[in-house]
Amino acid sequence: MDINSYISIHTLNKLDNNLLDYKKNILKHFYNNFLKDKTIDYQNFENKYLENNPTIIERSINDKKCMARVQYKTNTYKQCDNYKKNGDYCNIHFKNSNYGNINDLIN
Ligand SMILES: [Zn+2]
Repeated sequence: MDINSYISIHTLNKLDNNLLDYKKNILKHFYNNFLKDKTIDYQNFENKYLENNPTIIERSINDKKCMARVQYKTNTYKQCDNYKKNGDYCNIHFKNSNYGNINDLIN
């Protein structure tokens, strides 16, 4: 039997995502069916068990740019790329900033 020993990054990422989906399904099932005391919402519950520790890239903050924290990719955040238009924020984040200010602490 000949087995190809090369695994592409694409395949590894796909396996990773499948595994993550599988874990999420188990957690969701557990949350919905077995967790009696739902003092925690599902997303926090999931984050707690999947150890999705949020990270912030681009530690140096550009004072001329919008101070909103934006999601860069799953669980990774950075400062908004737009320039300030309204106070500390761009026109988008002046109205709504889903992930808070770049200086806010992530816990
Ligand atoms: Zn912005």
